[in-house]
Amino acid sequence: MKGFQQRELASVIEIDRRKCKGCDACKTFCPAGAITGKYGAVHSVDNEKCLFCGQCLVNCPFGAPQDTVDSVDAVIAKLKDSRATVVGVIAPAVRVAIGEEFGLEPGTLATEKLYGAMQQAGFKIFDNNFAADQCIMEEGSELIAKIRHFALGEPAHGHLLGPLPQFTSCCPAWVRHAELSYPDILPHLSSAKSPQQMAGALAKTYGANTVFRVSPENMYVVGVMPCTAKKFEASRPEFGSAALYWRKQGATGNYPDVDTVITTRDLARLLKKMNISLATAPGVADADNPLARYSGAGTIFGNTGGVMEAALRTAYFVITGRELATLEFTPVRGLKGVKEASVAMKDVKTGREIVLKVAVVHGIKENLAPVVAAVAAGTSPYHFIEVMNCPGGCVNGGGQPINPMGTSW
Ligand code: SF4
Repeated sequence: MKGFQQRELASVIEIDRRKCKGCDACKTFCPAGAITGKYGAVHSVDNEKCLFCGQCLVNCPFGAPQDTVDSVDAVIAKLKDSRATVVGVIAPAVRVAIGEEFGLEPGTLATEKLYGAMQQAGFKIFDNNFAADQCIMEEGSELIAKIRHFALGEPAHGHLLGPLPQFTSCCPAWVRHAELSYPDILPHLSSAKSPQQMAGALAKTYGANTVFRVSPENMYVVGVMPCTAKKFEASRPEFGSAALYWRKQGATGNYPDVDTVITTRDLARLLKKMNISLATAPGVADADNPLARYSGAGTIFGNTGGVMEAALRTAYFVITGRELATLEFTPVRGLKGVKEASVAMKDVKTGREIVLKVAVVHGIKENLAPVVAAVAAGTSPYHFIEVMNCPGGCVNGGGQPINPMGTSW
């Protein structure tokens, strides 16, 4: 983007040589073949290949891989700066994991206490589920236009943003993997940016102008994510659309949409440094601003299949004029970790029928290659494919609390 100066991170994960025993666990979980080193010798990360997903980090039994991007102290300094409006963008998978760091039963849904603890710390709340809802509308509309044109034979209205099948684009590790390993299929990725990046742009435009009523230059947007790859995503130089918007209105600011990202583990450390306990924080049911309201569709983004289901419900409703009753995935034989579903629908405008076929891939190391190969060969049976890097989706992301047994899966 012209005039936007941000430089993307060159590295997020490094292996601590003093802790590494050369056991190869990190290699086993790395989806990109980015770990080098012989069995028994100290390993290292090849940053040219690394997807920054942190799967090595949450699965190493010796705690050797480290997240090197630590902005906890910088966020605390902003929270203490009276000139700054610090907006925390909370991803859905954080609220079901953060409780573990404060002694709550693993899996406890702690949304209200999380709002309360973050408000105590000085954050304004932007629930990323709100942005996930926007993402569904964007991605679903794009899919509907492609289905109408390519599958139902209608004339194209406006500019079609790529061929079918459409891949999801909300997982930054998957996007980087596609860029590095499968550049030919990039036109198939949805043009919608991720909920985190939509949230940043919304916070510094609509949020700054209408909700928080502050200058976007005095806003500091913090992604609170289950994911180390989100740190890389926020640093990508193309994500400065709020500043571009304001420059078109005559302003001169030059800033990223999302200023920094902290993981679930980082947030727990931040709250503890500020002597705030999630366990005893007051429950806040309503964060009292429209950017913290959302539908049930936004919530399921954190699970494998959630993005697919949410977008498909939108597409089904627009094409048929009716709600989709149930969406049932079935395991695809021989491809563990790939799920597929078929949905028959009749176009309410033309009366034409279509059976929409969708697939969900999670854990790209074992499950992705045959699905992508079929798309590249033009033989894929699907119209829409969700890909999430981490096994199980973001709930099992590389920024989540580390399982004391040494593996997260
Ligand atoms: Fe991050 Fe979720 Fe992708 Fe894992 S699946 S890399 S947590 S966005």
